[in-house]
Amino acid sequence: MPNARYGGVLDQVMKIHEYQAKDILAKYGVAVPRGEVANTLEQALDVARRLFMAGASGVVVKAQIHAGGRGKGGGVKVAKTHSEAEDYAKQILGMQLVTHQTGPQGQKVRRLLVEETAAIDRELYLGVVLDRVTSKIVFMASKAGGMEIEEVAAKDPDAIVKEYIDPAVGFQPYQGRKLAFALGLKPVQINQAVHFMQGLYKVFVETDASLLEINPFITTKDDKLLALDCKMNFDDNAMFRHKDLKELRDVTEEDPLEVEASTYSLNYIKLDGNIACMVNGAGLAMATMDIIQYAGGSPANFLDVGGGASQEQIERAFEILLSDQHVKAIFINIFGGILRVDTLAQGVVAAAIKTNVKVPIVLRLEGTNVEQGRKILKDSGLNFLVGETMQDAAQIVVAAAKGAK
Ligand code: GDP
Ligand code: MN
Repeated sequence: MPNARYGGVLDQVMKIHEYQAKDILAKYGVAVPRGEVANTLEQALDVARRLFMAGASGVVVKAQIHAGGRGKGGGVKVAKTHSEAEDYAKQILGMQLVTHQTGPQGQKVRRLLVEETAAIDRELYLGVVLDRVTSKIVFMASKAGGMEIEEVAAKDPDAIVKEYIDPAVGFQPYQGRKLAFALGLKPVQINQAVHFMQGLYKVFVETDASLLEINPFITTKDDKLLALDCKMNFDDNAMFRHKDLKELRDVTEEDPLEVEASTYSLNYIKLDGNIACMVNGAGLAMATMDIIQYAGGSPANFLDVGGGASQEQIERAFEILLSDQHVKAIFINIFGGILRVDTLAQGVVAAAIKTNVKVPIVLRLEGTNVEQGRKILKDSGLNFLVGETMQDAAQIVVAAAKGAK
């Protein structure tokens, strides 16, 4: 169950690149521009050359990173000639692309998508997501394409038209027509649009997608419809049944700490604060983040070490928490059920010694073998702070993080 506050953060999704998403669309008969991915400058030039030879009037050179807003950041450039394409490919490949989604450090561009340019008439928006309130897939359409949809939703929510899909009957052609009319499409485009949306629905359901966004969804001067951009996320928990999709994962785009954590089966998500959390159980982890904020602090991560974490996993978890440079204090909040408190304590002591930890560690321990656990901590000679209750411990750790600044 998603938590209202952290639901967005904690939904584990697998992201893919635009070129990969467009390959999937094409397989389902959804219209995308002609183009290919390139990992090197030579490959990019080769793709451009072939597109020009096949009659393209221009090519667009697009940075492939797992973040939106590439156009504004200088990662999407339209070239009229082969030599212009070469200039842009040189510029973009290898650049540190900064967008509103990458953070100020940006993301290194390791590959390009080179596509035939389209003669754009209108830029529209089409999105498909899972609506948690109605438990239905919802289509969203807007005439305000090319802009960030969050911005449209905030300024002019009426500009977004929604159509909820009944899971028992699936996407219906009349729903496609409704959306097409709302987008102000021409009569000759209506059936194309319905076909396009039926394709999107099929992709969404069959791939266990959690988000499918076409922005912009364009009409061309000759009345065709095309997905000019495509962003696609999948439900990570469903990837076990999609071996082919799993291979599309690009770990170079992901947070290195999250990648490392996933190799040890730790459920870790990096956040922006400075108090690291080590908790067992997702519910307790969320409660811990809440109580840290309630005490005036800010969590550096979500970390669920699981019900039966081994000593090794705890050591790994500790190393991961400590490799986040922003961490000023660590809050260990464990209820020893399956995971015994003494096992945890051994892991913590071993990890604290091994990693030569400098930041204060605050613990709140409860459950099986709690006395043995406390003794292990005491006998270690290391300086652990212990809170009696969760609230206590939260106040101590928030104070410790502030003092350490
Ligand atoms: P984003 O900024 O990461 O969302 O990247 P997009 O793929 O959406 O590209 C940004 C913008 O570049 C689009 O909204 C278009 O205005 C423009 N663009 C992308 N492809 C083409 C193209 O083939 N022709 C033209 N003229 N503009 C394009
Ligand atoms: Mn876009």
